[in-house]
Amino acid sequence: MRNFLYFEPSSLDEATKLFAEWGAKAWKLAGGTDLLVKIKKKEIEPEVVVNLKRIPGLADTYVKDGFLHLGALITVAGLLRNSVVKQYFPALYQAAAVMGSPQIRELATVGGNICNAAPTADLVPPLVALDASVRLVSARGAREIKLEKIFRGPGRTEISAEEILTEIVVPLPGDGQRSVYLKHGIRRAHEIAIAGVAVSLSAEWTRLRHVRIALGAVAPTVVRAYSAENLLLEQPISEDTLALAASMAAQSAQPRDGVRGSAWYKREVTRVLTLRALKLCLSGGTGYGTRN
Ligand SMILES: Cc1cc2nc3c(=O)[nH]c(=O)nc-3n(C[C@H](O)[C@H](O)[C@H](O)COP(=O)(O)OP(=O)(O)OC[C@H]3O[C@@H](n4cnc5c(N)ncnc54)[C@H](O)[C@@H]3O)c2cc1C
Repeated sequence: MRNFLYFEPSSLDEATKLFAEWGAKAWKLAGGTDLLVKIKKKEIEPEVVVNLKRIPGLADTYVKDGFLHLGALITVAGLLRNSVVKQYFPALYQAAAVMGSPQIRELATVGGNICNAAPTADLVPPLVALDASVRLVSARGAREIKLEKIFRGPGRTEISAEEILTEIVVPLPGDGQRSVYLKHGIRRAHEIAIAGVAVSLSAEWTRLRHVRIALGAVAPTVVRAYSAENLLLEQPISEDTLALAASMAAQSAQPRDGVRGSAWYKREVTRVLTLRALKLCLSGGTGYGTRN
């Protein structure tokens, strides 16, 4: 392994100055569960590693003015211990519960899951379905951007080398809004998703007032199933509408043949998971822990 410079800034100001100075030569370290694996495999050879964990406030979570603010360094285990996440954001809670192993969940951070930009990242579909935004801070200032807009492709985001993701901001659910995340993998633990589907919706009688469907692991980035969402908003809810919407969601996927299954299989799993997630949301079920 090549030697690298290592910094542990104790303030955000200090950290942003380091990234302004070193730019793309510097890698941000959070839980290290992706970064250290890549360094070990020599997929990346950083000149500089900057540990974000000593920066105060980056793991804070709080509710303010109708929004949940999640510090980027909150761990996946921290999400599971958070009563607001558990009560109001079941899809996010369910995704956290099926991520990695207990050891990985204690280290892995929400910000790291987003910034690593793996198409299979479990926390991204629920956060997109829940309309999350991210706050990015650099020495030049701060900006907020919708989460679904930051992904360019596998491992690639709109986040510049000088920016740190400091927090994820999620609107508190409206009246009757429900959400579910379902993941399908080969094994029951330590498993990367073959497909993951997050649905957030609210219904009034036979009509949906709001619906968002986000698909993970079946395209170069997490994708929204817009045509299925539009159909569900236009048509009264029925078995036929739900089945058609699930098929349309599967068509929004762009899967490829791979070690975890053929493109046909991944599309089919997407259809089945979408139908199941829609029905769970409408029946008030949780889908907690569902993997297949
Ligand atoms: C055995 C194992 C099992 C796993 N299982 C799963 C799974 O089931 N589901 C899943 O989704 N993932 C899984 N992962 C992947 C990994 O654990 C997650 O992606 C995790 O959330 C990454 O977070 P981290 O804090 O460890 O990130 P790190 O490894 O520290 O960083 C990841 C990337 O994001 C950048 N980064 C981190 N934080 C920030 C920030 N605040 N601002 C800007 N850039 C930042 C880093 O520079 C790096 O490029 C698994 C990994 C392992 C090793």
